[in-house]
Amino acid sequence: MAIATINPTTGETEQEFEPHTAEEVERRIARAQDAFAALKDTTFARRAEWLRRAADLLDAEVDSTARMLVVEMGKPIAQAEAEVRKSAKGLRFYADHAEGFLADEPLADPAAVGAAKAWTRYEPLGPVLAVMPWNFPIWQALRFAAPALAAGNTGLLKHASNVPRTALYLDALFARAGFPEGAFQALLVGSDAVNAVIEDPRVKAVTLTGSEPAGRSVAAAAGAAIKKTVLELGGSDPFVVLPSADLDAAVETAVKARTINNGQSCIASKRFIVHADVYDEFARRFAEATAALVVGDPLDPGTDVGPLATESGRDDLAELVDDAVAKGAEVLAGGGAPDRAGWFYTPTVLAGLSEDARIVQEEAFGPVAALYRAEDAEEAVRIANQTPFGLSSSVWTTDAEEQARFVRRLDAGAVFVNGMTVSFPELPFGGVKNSGYGRELAAAGIREFTNLKTVWQG
Ligand code: NAP
Repeated sequence: MAIATINPTTGETEQEFEPHTAEEVERRIARAQDAFAALKDTTFARRAEWLRRAADLLDAEVDSTARMLVVEMGKPIAQAEAEVRKSAKGLRFYADHAEGFLADEPLADPAAVGAAKAWTRYEPLGPVLAVMPWNFPIWQALRFAAPALAAGNTGLLKHASNVPRTALYLDALFARAGFPEGAFQALLVGSDAVNAVIEDPRVKAVTLTGSEPAGRSVAAAAGAAIKKTVLELGGSDPFVVLPSADLDAAVETAVKARTINNGQSCIASKRFIVHADVYDEFARRFAEATAALVVGDPLDPGTDVGPLATESGRDDLAELVDDAVAKGAEVLAGGGAPDRAGWFYTPTVLAGLSEDARIVQEEAFGPVAALYRAEDAEEAVRIANQTPFGLSSSVWTTDAEEQARFVRRLDAGAVFVNGMTVSFPELPFGGVKNSGYGRELAAAGIREFTNLKTVWQG
């Protein structure tokens, strides 16, 4: 895949980039190693100061950075601005909390292990490789970078090949904020260069956010090299609506949860599982609201849904819909690509899916909703859990017992009750099943890439 900025709104190539040579990658790994030697002995307070400065730069540059995101991957401008601000918030969160999250933990009763004193401490590992996707090009990269740097690790970012401007912006950001040269660097390389970096003994761990095949490949290479991985992969999150739900809120949130970021979010609700008692009304109102969305230029503040980020992504999505329709699905809204330049796909609602439709098992990475009718809560749980994914989930009910049952029984890394899934720096984020393993954000996220060292003192 060429490393290039191709504007998805027009389909035109704005800029192509020479990939880094193997020698340049080598230089960058060496620099990451040298920077680690300096960074690991800095104080939390010093690293927090640099993280806050990086956050201030993001806030000061929100307009130009947001426009860069829109040109590279097509999200609506207001959402791009929100992403930049949220990323600044994530940097400040770890500036404020890293020291507490990684504080030494003394054993309350050292005599039980025959020690005068025993405790655990968290130590940074060294250079960590992050393989990142294009859908939240700043936020995804920073939710790795903020905890990694706060802990004293250094970062190597292999960003998606269609967001090189963002990769280079991030490459410069941390040096501008005061971090030692080499603390955080981009590797402008294709996915075929990733394994060699994983195998390099100076690189201590790897995190990947992306598709299932990419996750399998990276985990296999890291496994062979005995290196820790965190994998944040795809999802096909259920959005379950039960009879006691506030239907106005559920419909409004369902539309947003499916179409935010032009439908390209791992934690977007993708399957809408509605109890038979409220199915007809929900389906009608959901389809009407989806059809009313404004599809257009993402730089226009009036646009709800912009183009898909890549041509192949748009084509994959169209194939999933065509497959479902060929197998008998009913199209309640949308159902095709509009006749215009760029990689647009009209927001779509499908119902009456046959069991063998690919969309029943596969992730639809774009504004296409799959609607399911469940005869009772038990069937809703079964449908919710029937995919190979387990990232997040959303359940709408005001019945306390039902809420507790769904929280317990949904096979997912998160359950949001009467709300859509959102990532927050304060809450751990990650999946089960084929959605991956390990956690990002909160205390769990910063501890992933540390050595939990046990100290026993006689
Ligand atoms: P993708 O093709 O897997 O790309 C993601 C990153 O992995 C890119 O940097 C890509 O590089 C790299 N990559 C691809 N194949 C690789 C391989 N065999 N070895 C090493 N690196 C490889 O994913 P995408 O289709 O662009 O992104 C959408 C997917 O990401 C969806 O499935 C979505 O659900 C998932 N996602 C998950 C989360 C989460 O937190 N769980 C968040 C966002 C997105 P190139 O660009 O050079 O190919």
